[in-house]
Amino acid sequence: MLVPYSSCALCGIFKYPASNMDYIGRFAPSPTGPLHFGSLVAAVGSFLQARSQDGLWLVRMEDVDRPREVPSAADAILRWLEAFGLHWDGKVVYQSRRDEAYSAALRELERLGIAYGCVCSRKEVADAITAIGGTPGVYPGNCRTATPVGRQARTVRVNVAGQQITFEDQVQGTLAQELECDVGDFVIRRADGLFAYQLAVVVDDAEQGITEVVRGSDLIDSTPRQIYLQRLLGVPTPSYLHLPVVVDASGQKLSKQTHAPPIDPLTPLAALVRALALLGQHPPTELLRVNLDEFWRWAIEHWEATHIPAVKKLTCP
Ligand code: GLU
Repeated sequence: MLVPYSSCALCGIFKYPASNMDYIGRFAPSPTGPLHFGSLVAAVGSFLQARSQDGLWLVRMEDVDRPREVPSAADAILRWLEAFGLHWDGKVVYQSRRDEAYSAALRELERLGIAYGCVCSRKEVADAITAIGGTPGVYPGNCRTATPVGRQARTVRVNVAGQQITFEDQVQGTLAQELECDVGDFVIRRADGLFAYQLAVVVDDAEQGITEVVRGSDLIDSTPRQIYLQRLLGVPTPSYLHLPVVVDASGQKLSKQTHAPPIDPLTPLAALVRALALLGQHPPTELLRVNLDEFWRWAIEHWEATHIPAVKKLTCP
């Protein structure tokens, strides 16, 4: 079992203001570069969903993938959130400081006989898939029953045999995934020794007491893996709301990798009003001339999650 949240001293829970503890949401950026309009939409959606229910909104820096981290990006992201009036509760949690919690979860999965060491390199996995005519990217279970003698495990994987996971997304509807056919046994500890996002996110959402995950639809396919891990670790499954991901004219997700232009925190209102409109709300043009406090007052009061477009992608306006 994981450490119950009430005994977790990491997250500053005791410093939260009086608020509706029945709703705890979060924004979990990866500090791989400056935030862009797509990140703003995710931040605004999760913030409004929490604040409109008088709930808590936490920020977690997902710097578990250290090689991808850009120095100083984490601080820049926090300054950027402040500039947009996106004020969070409690202390920011950094995944790079949470190896102990992830190790405990890994040990629990090993104890359950669900996690196992895999010796395969990427090439060996790809070759094995080709050899059986399998689906690209779906691990065919090479080391599931036995680790080849005399070889050192490189990664740790989770056995997904027979797992069919169905969940109800508040915006995107009912989704089902057959883990074995769609993803295969997935990695929870990487060959470089780092914990994988799928494990870290489950441990953190549980310890922070997250009741609802609001994030971009690019992560919707990861949700069944996360629900599976939650069940194995005996922690609650939050509700899920996946927002449309903002794409450019060529259909590419706006991201640091596609070099989406950062947005200017010196002129926050124009971007905030665009983000609201994209989320299906109907901001009046007068909002462009108010101050940030007035903007957020209007946005919280008028937020309607049921108006969020039920699509996975939306073109940047
Ligand atoms: N760190 C992820 C990102 O920046 C978000 C993960 C999540 O919300 O679960 O896209």
